[in-house]
Amino acid sequence: MQHIHNKSLLSFMVPNEKQGIAVTNPATGEMIGYAPISSEQSILDGIERASIAQKEWSAMPAKSRAALLHKWYQLLLENKQDLARLMTLEQGKPLAEAQGEVVYGASFIEWFAEEAKRTYGETIPAPSADKRLVTIKQPVGVACAITPWNFPIAMITRKAGPALAAGCSFVVKPSESTPLSAFAVAELAYQAGIPRDVLQVVLGESSRQVGGIFTSHPLIRKVSFTGSTQVGSILMQQSAHDVKRTSMELGGNAPFIVFDDADIDEAVAGAMASKFRNAGQTCVCANRFYVHSKVYDEFVAKFDAAVQQLKVGNGLEEGVTIGPVVSESAKQNIQALIDGAVEQGAEPVSELKALDGLFMQPVILKNVTHDMAIVSQEIFGPVAPIIRFETDEELIEMANDTIYGLASYFYSQNIHRVWKIAEALEYGMVGINEGLISTEVAPFGGVKQSGIGREGAKQGIDEYMDVKYLCFGGNK
Ligand code: ADP
Repeated sequence: MQHIHNKSLLSFMVPNEKQGIAVTNPATGEMIGYAPISSEQSILDGIERASIAQKEWSAMPAKSRAALLHKWYQLLLENKQDLARLMTLEQGKPLAEAQGEVVYGASFIEWFAEEAKRTYGETIPAPSADKRLVTIKQPVGVACAITPWNFPIAMITRKAGPALAAGCSFVVKPSESTPLSAFAVAELAYQAGIPRDVLQVVLGESSRQVGGIFTSHPLIRKVSFTGSTQVGSILMQQSAHDVKRTSMELGGNAPFIVFDDADIDEAVAGAMASKFRNAGQTCVCANRFYVHSKVYDEFVAKFDAAVQQLKVGNGLEEGVTIGPVVSESAKQNIQALIDGAVEQGAEPVSELKALDGLFMQPVILKNVTHDMAIVSQEIFGPVAPIIRFETDEELIEMANDTIYGLASYFYSQNIHRVWKIAEALEYGMVGINEGLISTEVAPFGGVKQSGIGREGAKQGIDEYMDVKYLCFGGNK
């Protein structure tokens, strides 16, 4: 860990596998360190303490909670370099992207520090003269979260920020592949003055065990999850037993559409950003490209020229733009999707090179058809399948032909078409002439099996608050 200068960020680490879970660097296979594992009893005790601490936390004026969140935000930015290096070590993404994620992750803490002061209720004109009607918003209580490995910091802060701002206490289980960033971020929260019982990071014996505890514990009133649709569905079913509130940010299958009236150079730039960020491992990644036949060859040629500029390697090395994928099984799944498509007639635009370890050569596949598995499944890797289309009607049908509905993207310069397509796409988010849509100020979330609830924006804090209606009667 010679890469990390502020050693206090690593104070949570435990010395060996008896007490902790081993975390490895996906670029090298080397062991980086051990993150602490909690026993079932200590997780249960932590939830009890979170419930007690929540009373005091929510009783603080919002302005005081906001001040502590602001301090946390500042510490995250001050420690940007160390946090980014730690993230690259355990997750693999290029250092520049990791730095970007620290800033993006921190932005949710800043935003919700501000929103803490704006959780307004309403006064409602009463239907009769003797009554006065008012609503107030109150924190749900103890909230918990389960987060994935692809954004080890941002997927936590976009939940912890609104939860703490609302006056909830918050217990999170990060991914077992990337827990170090999670503990380091929490360490900075404690240094900012946020009580340890109000914000807790826990790993258990297994994710299933912790998911079971969270979804069945009577003191937990809210379950927030980012990950696969399959696991999200399990957690919703488990949460249904005690009717807990849930927010689910699940899988995606984003179409990236290029019409014949698009600016092709801009579309290529957007495609690069949307497809290859984080080696294609984001839930809003372009998963399948639909390109109008009139501009198909031009788009494919320019896109491929840009892909040839990508540099695969260890994210700590200068100039690397594509790190490793997360695991051997992920690599095999991605490879199987490529092989299946090629068997059915898809053509790699450049040579398919097999790389060692968890690295994969980014590739574009042309002559892909809508019925291939690579089109209907979430690829989560650096592969861009490109399908040809002719009419808007056919396009809309193909674009919406999926169980998912998270992000979508399209490029067109025609204002009438822009409105028509934006309204017709069955997705929670639409990038129009834009490949990067995520920001803390806009509502992030999906429809269909991509989930429920929104993160970020003014909507994000409502996920952690209940609306209470007060009816004042007897007014003479
Ligand atoms: P991904 O494809 O991002 O790995 P997963 O849904 O498998 O998606 O994992 C996301 C998070 O869910 C991780 O923190 C993982 O440990 C956790 N997880 C996986 N399976 C379960 C489960 N059965 N119950 C609770 N959490 C789970």
